[in-house]
Parts: sequence; C-alpha cells; structure tokens
Amino acid sequence: MVTVQKLLRLGSDLQVDSARRDTEILLCHCLDKPRVWLYTWPEKEVSQDCANAFKQLLVQRRKGIPVAYLTGQREFWSLPLAVSDATLIPRPETETLVEWALELALPNAASVLDLGTGSGAIALALASERPQWHLTALDVSEEALQVARGNAVRTKMTSVHFVQSDWYQAVLGQRFNALLGNPPYVDADDPHLGLGDVRFEPRSALVSSNRGLEDLGRLVIGAPDQLVDGGWLLLEHGFEQAKTVRAMLHDAGFSHVTTRLDMSGRQRVTGGCWHAD
Ligand code: GLN
Repeated sequence: MVTVQKLLRLGSDLQVDSARRDTEILLCHCLDKPRVWLYTWPEKEVSQDCANAFKQLLVQRRKGIPVAYLTGQREFWSLPLAVSDATLIPRPETETLVEWALELALPNAASVLDLGTGSGAIALALASERPQWHLTALDVSEEALQVARGNAVRTKMTSVHFVQSDWYQAVLGQRFNALLGNPPYVDADDPHLGLGDVRFEPRSALVSSNRGLEDLGRLVIGAPDQLVDGGWLLLEHGFEQAKTVRAMLHDAGFSHVTTRLDMSGRQRVTGGCWHAD
C-alpha cells in the first residue's frame, strides 16, 4: 500500500535546501489538498495514478525545474498566481516595491503603471489593496500577458488594463501618478544565472545589457514624460545597483530619491518623485 508518508520519503534525495517543502508542495498538488492534510493523514492510502503523477514531478524536480513551474502556481501577496516559463516566478523581495507603492500619497483614483508585469504580480497585488486605482500593466511578451490576464480573472481583479508594449512605447502621451517596475537587471555574466530556479526562467525577464543597467536606464530616462507633476517612479534592482540607480534618478531630475531594503536587508528598490518646473 502506498501511503502519504511513504511518498513523502521519496523526496528526501532532492539536492536542495527546500527538499522537504518542495516534496510536500508537489504531493499536495497531486492530491489537491492543503499541506496540513499531509500531517493529519500520514497513513492514508494514495491512489496509484496520484502516486505516479507525484513520482513524475519528482523526476522533473530532480532535473532542477522550479516547483512553481511544476505546479503552475506561486503565491504572491496572498494571491494564488498562475506562472509559466514565459514569466518570472514572483519573488518575496518584490513585496518591498508593493509596500512602498501602497504608502505613496496618491489621489484616490490614481493611475498607476506596472512596467514588465510578467505574471501580473505587482499590478494584481495593488488592485487587491486599492480597487479604486486605475491600473495599467504592460509587458513586451504576449505570452506573459496571457498568463497575467488569466490571473486577473482568477483573482477577480478584472479592472486591471493589460497592454503589450516595449516599455513606454504603447503608452506614450499618457501620464501616471506612479510608475512601478521590476525590469530585467541581471548582468549576462552573473554566475547566479546558472544556479537554481533562475536557470529555467525567461532570460528576457532577467538579463539586461550594460551590466544589467540598460532597461533600468531606459525606464528612468523615459519616466518624466509619463508622470504627472508630483508623480513617483519606483524600481526594483539588483542589490549592488542601488547607488547607480539613485544617480540615474538624480540626473533625470527626480527629488526625494531613496532606496528601500528587501526582507533580507539588501538595497532592492529605489524611487523618487518628479516635479515639473
Ligand atoms: N531578483 C531576480 C534574481 O536575482 C532578478 C529579477 C529581475 O531581473 N527583475 O534572480
């Protein structure tokens, strides 16, 4: 008889720190049960089909495929978001950006733009907290936008407006109260790209030329033409890029330029306010 307990033991050889957690998530995915169920029913018999599906997932996980791609889902800001290999897997450090955006003194019906939305994480998190905001989320990848639109339906945040756009190209002439983005910012030679989950994520969402700074630079340069007077630009970046991004914002005429730390204490998000004169 194949029991929950026996199946969980099969994951003990996974060569990752999160072996136990990954195994539990994958088994729960096959069983369609919450994790607490595994602890309540360790002796429960599992059907052959379910056990086989689980073993298949373990084979894939051993090859390094991220758990979120195997289950097709990752939680962000308590929202269960679908992800695919066309999108980055939402990361907890991006919550720093969402928290900051929620603290901005914006008008009630603020118009806010999410640059490079991927799975829709930032825009949907904000929509869940500020239903009265007018949120636009853009991405250059039509495949990513399909995932994001699906997530909007799934989380019932259908007021978010999704647009296919190479950065500001499709919204030129529009002005927003806030521009937010988690653009690609990793250097192509960064050894971190060869490790763990990132190996399977879309390069276009991770890598930027000019030491990872090209897209950040484009977003900063274009921002003044897209912001209302007193509007804010907040950008996630690599933890070693904070000083450079602050200098970019100063050079572009932003004031109140500061950097916030992520939950690991790393300089992760830089923002500033723009005043027309
Ligand atoms: N924080 C991600 C990483 O280091 C990169 C995300 C991004 O490029 N926007 O894997």
